[in-house]
Amino acid sequence: MISGRLRNTEYVINLKALRNNIQAQRAVMPAGSRVLAVVKANAYGHGLVPVAQAALRAGATGMCVAILDEALELRDSGVDAITLVLGITPVEEANVAAEAGVSLTVGSLEWLTKYHQFARQFNWTKPLKVHLAVDTGMGRIGFTNVAEFQQAATLLRQYPEFEFEGMFTHFATADSADSTYFDRQYARWQQFTNSLTELPPYVHMANSATGLWHRSQITANTIRMGISMFGYNPSGKELPVDLDLQPVGTLKTAICFIKKLAAGESVSYGATYTAAKDEWLATVPIGYADGYPRCMTGFKVLVDGQYCPIAGRVCMDQMMIRLPKYYPVDTPVILMGKSGDRVITAEDMAEQAHTINYEILTNFNNRIHRTYH
Ligand code: PLP
Repeated sequence: MISGRLRNTEYVINLKALRNNIQAQRAVMPAGSRVLAVVKANAYGHGLVPVAQAALRAGATGMCVAILDEALELRDSGVDAITLVLGITPVEEANVAAEAGVSLTVGSLEWLTKYHQFARQFNWTKPLKVHLAVDTGMGRIGFTNVAEFQQAATLLRQYPEFEFEGMFTHFATADSADSTYFDRQYARWQQFTNSLTELPPYVHMANSATGLWHRSQITANTIRMGISMFGYNPSGKELPVDLDLQPVGTLKTAICFIKKLAAGESVSYGATYTAAKDEWLATVPIGYADGYPRCMTGFKVLVDGQYCPIAGRVCMDQMMIRLPKYYPVDTPVILMGKSGDRVITAEDMAEQAHTINYEILTNFNNRIHRTYH
């Protein structure tokens, strides 16, 4: 995908904030605990490789990604720390992971058996690092039956084609004020951990929300840190965060065109916005094809420390904003981030778009040029 380096729109990534967030989480975890930085989906839109490298420098032990291709991209870029693919990889492709030293998630005995047959048949000799997924109530992937889980652990220890590296679960409601469902999942998780006489090296149950709001219950030596590493609240605005998390990304653009709109004149597709009086109207070079959602129509941006409304519909590559007074071309416009003492957060944008901050962040695509500081 083409990155728009030659227009004044950029996603400024503050790697010091990333470091701060990882260290803030580590500071409240027991000594010796590990952080796996969740860098799937282009590191939640912040850029896979630069974020992975910065996370390692900040003390993360390794990475979690969603798909094998993301893990291979890390390896191609020289990131050789432990990298776990959180999704299910087709058995047919799994030897690629073994060869690259990438760890795979396994959630069924069938998968293990099939892999073992393939390994023998095709002479796949490099041991595959496996993390067993335990489904304690997320209902997505993983073992639900303790006896089958134990069998899987035995297979992993028995066959030289495998290395039993980890086990994990994922909580569905760790970001909710009501902990009833969390507690049920947690009790189930303990049945699985208690079922093994010896645990694998990596035992992980915590996502960001668990690390923030269920810290005292973490009976595991590793946390998978995703959205909180980027400085955002996993619950949106529901629960307060007690760590000093700093948002990592600032989405900015600049005025590329300015004009006076006369009272009664309309703007953008559908002519849904009409000037009530003569007003200054600026165009900025960003739109829904960049991942700035079309449903932000009616939202606001920041210019010179002031909120300015988006005028009319967000277009594919451009949109218009109403200014309180004349500002010249190239004046900075903040879409997400701080300007003066005002701020627009990913959570504010998510509210407007009727979604979650995760989706806002992962939508920003590579046409928006990223810069790292
Ligand atoms: N672990 C798993 C299995 C996930 O699917 C995700 C993200 O969806 C994470 C960890 C990271 O979650 P969060 O960004 O809420 O920390």
